[in-house]
Amino acid sequence: MEPKELEGKVALVTGASRGLGRAIALRLASLGSRVAINYLASEEAAASLAGEIEKGGGEAMLMKAHVADAKEVRAMVREIVGRWGKIDILVNNAGIVKDDLLPRMADEAWDEVINTNLRGAYLCTKFAVRSMMEQFWGRVINIASLAGIVGNIGQANYSAAKGGLIAFTKSVARELGSRNITVNAIAPGFVTTEMTDRLPQETKDVILSRIPLKRFGTPDDVAELVAFLASERASYITAQVICIDGGVI
Ligand code: NAP
Repeated sequence: MEPKELEGKVALVTGASRGLGRAIALRLASLGSRVAINYLASEEAAASLAGEIEKGGGEAMLMKAHVADAKEVRAMVREIVGRWGKIDILVNNAGIVKDDLLPRMADEAWDEVINTNLRGAYLCTKFAVRSMMEQFWGRVINIASLAGIVGNIGQANYSAAKGGLIAFTKSVARELGSRNITVNAIAPGFVTTEMTDRLPQETKDVILSRIPLKRFGTPDDVAELVAFLASERASYITAQVICIDGGVI
C-alpha cells in the first residue's frame, strides 16, 4: 500500500470543485491530508467531491468563498484553523479565463481575471501563511500557466495574472524561506478540463501538434506534481516554476 505521507496535514485547495483543483484535492486526500475544498458556484460538485474523499476514509470540509474577497478569505481561513487547528498546504488553484484580443478586451474582463487569478492567490496566501509561520512548516503551491511565461494571443489579462503569480511566488518564497515554508509555482500547458473544453477543435488540433508528447495533460498529471511538492521529498525546492506541458517549452 502507498505510504500516507501527508497524514496529519491540513490542505486548502482553492477552486477545488472542478478540473485540476478536484484532482489535486483527491490526490492530497489519498495521501492522508485533510482537505478544505474551496469553491464559488459549483456547490453540488464540491459536495460530491467531499463525499468521495470521505468514502475513501479521508476528511474534507466545504468552504464557499470568492478568493478575491478579503472578508470571505479571512473567514474561510479562520474557520479551517478553528476546526482543524492549522493550514499546512495551500494550493492556489482557483482561476478563470475571459479571453479577447487586446483592442476588444472589456475592462471588466481584465479586472475579473486579474482579481481571481492574482489577487485571489495574494489574499489566500497572506491569510493562510500565518498558521504555517507559527509552526515553521508550510507549502504554498501556485497554479500558474505557460501563458504566464510565454504569453498567449487573446490572453493578455490571463497571461499578466499568471506572470504576476510567478513573480509573487518568487518573492514570497524569499520572504518565507527562513520559516521553512516552500513556495513554488506549477505552469501547466494544455490540460483537459472544462476551461479548455470550450476551445474550438481546430485550435485544439494546432495545440496538440506542438506538444512533443503528443497528448494533452490530465488533471491527474498536475495533481501528482502538487503531491510531490507538498511532500517532505520536496523540502529543498522553493521559488521554482515547474512546467508540466508535455515538452512544449
Ligand atoms: P476549471 O475547470 O474552469 O475550474 C476552475 C475552478 O476554479 C472551479 O472549481 C471554480 O469553482 C473555481 N473558481 C473560479 N473562480 C473562483 C473564485 N472567484 N473563487 C473560488 N473559486 C473559484 O479550470 P481548470 O482548468 O481546472 O483550471 C484550474 C487552474 O489551473 C486555474 O488557475 C487555471 O488558470 C490553471 N491552468 C489550467 C490549464 C488548463 O489547460 N486547464 C492550463 C494552465 C493553467 P466554481 O465552479 O465553484 O465557481
